[in-house]
Amino acid sequence: MSRTAIDRDIRLDLARAAYRDISLYVVDRTPVAVDLSDNTNLWGVPPAAARTIVDAAGAVTRYPAVYAKGLKDLLAEYLGVASDMIVTGCGSDDVIDSAIRAIAEPGDRMAYADPTFHMAVTFGRMNGLEPIAVPLTSTWDADPEAFVATGARVMYLCSPNNPTGGAMSRAAIEWVVDHAPGLVIVDEAYAEYAGASVVDLIARSDRLLVTRTMSKAFGLAGLRIGYAAGAPPLIREVEKSRGPYKVSVVAERAACAALTDDRTWVQAHVDEAIANRGRLATELATLGLSPLPSAANFLLVPAGATPSAATIVRRMREIGVGVRPYTGLRAIGDAVRVTIGPWDMMDAFLGALCGIVVP
Ligand SMILES: *Cc1c(COP(=O)(O)O)cnc(C)c1O
Repeated sequence: MSRTAIDRDIRLDLARAAYRDISLYVVDRTPVAVDLSDNTNLWGVPPAAARTIVDAAGAVTRYPAVYAKGLKDLLAEYLGVASDMIVTGCGSDDVIDSAIRAIAEPGDRMAYADPTFHMAVTFGRMNGLEPIAVPLTSTWDADPEAFVATGARVMYLCSPNNPTGGAMSRAAIEWVVDHAPGLVIVDEAYAEYAGASVVDLIARSDRLLVTRTMSKAFGLAGLRIGYAAGAPPLIREVEKSRGPYKVSVVAERAACAALTDDRTWVQAHVDEAIANRGRLATELATLGLSPLPSAANFLLVPAGATPSAATIVRRMREIGVGVRPYTGLRAIGDAVRVTIGPWDMMDAFLGALCGIVVP
């Protein structure tokens, strides 16, 4: 049965109007030998966090800290800001959702760079916002004047951008922050791989929220720990909207351990990912492919004249390698996104790809 057929069969008349055309998140999570599909840390679990998860078992009969104060203190130190400038959540998805809900009313508009991280746009729609796509420039940067011209209540910029991979220029982000009429969310899920951040701009605007996550460089996606930095009055509103007890006891303890004792481990694997990213881009170029410039732990490879993304991804899965397909991206067309990991995984990817796109 097709996905639309399933959706039609279970459509509920009671559903809130803004939700009727939203589908459940569909992603192929079938286990595959080499899974390069979700941009998580392919070097494994940070060791201090792993030990803490086992030790935390005895604490789970009680509720966690209401707003994860201990974790906020460590994240504040990590970002070099004050503790009242940090909010946490059940993944940064939850923080983005809470921020939109805190600031926008149903019927407001939400501008986003196209293409970008689709989940953020879905959270806008779930909160009743009208999404407005703003095309990326020819250098895959945000177009600040086009963003501001939308007059949108919420502007979402992802830097480095998923799925294109490039970081937005600081000048473009600054211009949006200085001219936007409402909330500006800058999603820095991949900041560790970019070596750059706009967190410092929160000191000059109470309209800027910079979201981060422990799901990528910190290797803790399964624990669902996201956070954001912003001016204290904005953080307070997002925290209200988020609600209490969103970070579990186990997640908070593991995150604190990682921030205290695993920073060297994290940095070493970020460095290795950056080195492998360059090496993989070079190898792809020798195959006649043109990955987009990336500041993240993944590369987007336009399919060009090769088979469609869906075909490439299906055939790669058959031989044990999982990557993420994209169909009909604006200005790109079909593409596949591959997560950067240890070189033996990159070798497996190149081997599988060769048989499919190079005749
Ligand atoms: C992976 C990712 C996230 C992370 O979401 P979590 O909910 O923190 O796991 C956020 N934004 C972007 C752009 C991502 O790619």
